[in-house]
Amino acid sequence: MLSMIRPILRYGDSVLHNQAENVTDLTLDIEKLVEDLIETMYAAPGVGLAASQVGVPLRIFVADPSAGRNVNDLVIMINPELVTTEGIQTEDEGCLSVPGFNATVSRPLRSVVRGLNLEGESHEIEGAGLLARIFQHELDHLNGSLFLDRLRGLKRQIIVRKINKLRRTGKW
Ligand code: ZN
Repeated sequence: MLSMIRPILRYGDSVLHNQAENVTDLTLDIEKLVEDLIETMYAAPGVGLAASQVGVPLRIFVADPSAGRNVNDLVIMINPELVTTEGIQTEDEGCLSVPGFNATVSRPLRSVVRGLNLEGESHEIEGAGLLARIFQHELDHLNGSLFLDRLRGLKRQIIVRKINKLRRTGKW
């Protein structure tokens, strides 16, 4: 099955701002979607990608904190749930759906996520540091929320105003 790079939606597209639905059947289409997500993430390049970012409102994300340098770092999560979180980290964060903008976001230092792999088996993965941050960021995507929504007041307004200006002038 040939995978392909799918276009990544940007801030303002409704799929990004709505809750995604659980996958009920691991069909060939889902398998293809996951392969496409992996290829699209690596091509971007990025360290995580949620299905909603390519316009599919299903609860699936892929992550790889090594951005493809270490094959063992690839994580596939179908119907992911947050099991536990611990601690706090405050780092700069960006998003493939909000290109050109970064902001400091506080996230748990560790988190455990449980979901299904491509074989339909349940797996639980503990992430620390960057992987914990990616987990939170991708789960937010599946809940229709972007990292911008975690920013407060003026910081968020400034970025949203700039994006709206880009949208008005057709540069977004
Ligand atoms: Zn993102």
